[in-house]
Amino acid sequence: MAEQNPVLLLSGDKWHIVEDSRRSETTLCGQRIQERRAHTRLSNVGLERICRQCARLRAASVGPI
Ligand SMILES: [Zn+2]
Repeated sequence: MAEQNPVLLLSGDKWHIVEDSRRSETTLCGQRIQERRAHTRLSNVGLERICRQCARLRAASVGPI
């Protein structure tokens, strides 16, 4: 079952969805994580403020929140 409130990682100036804040090497949208500036949960940031690609991929797999 998909995580209802996934972890977001700040990479560059964008929040991306990741499977795991420490172990993931790529974001949901396939970008390689180069810096881990911060992490939080989706509910703290909001779907409209994250990487659009990640948001779209998530919506395709679990539907809008
Ligand atoms: Zn992304």
